[in-house]
Amino acid sequence: MASFGFGKKSRRKRGFDGTDDDLTARLRMLQAKDETQEVEALQEKVDRLTLICRALWTLVREHHDLSETDLVNRMEEMKRTEGAECPECGRIMSRHHNRCLYCGAEGSAAGAFDRF
Ligand SMILES: [Zn+2]
Repeated sequence: MASFGFGKKSRRKRGFDGTDDDLTARLRMLQAKDETQEVEALQEKVDRLTLICRALWTLVREHHDLSETDLVNRMEEMKRTEGAECPECGRIMSRHHNRCLYCGAEGSAAGAFDRF
């Protein structure tokens, strides 16, 4: 049977006394552990995606005679034009939302990166 650390043995070993404060502290420790594991899993995912991006970049660079400067220039250009203009009110819409935060108009998600 799984032990969650609330038994006599665990209390003695870890110094828990079974009070509400003690249980609250234990619950917070378990939540912090879950969140830590979630952050670690996300970091692993980011690392894998970074590796994929680097591999793709080396292939593209080799096959199309591009340089690091070309890549950096394109990144800066994309960063500058990150928001699209709302077709209704003309304000800048975030790329992260396909709806204007000011007037509610739908944006025109043009490419796959915007749609999915
Ligand atoms: Zn708008």
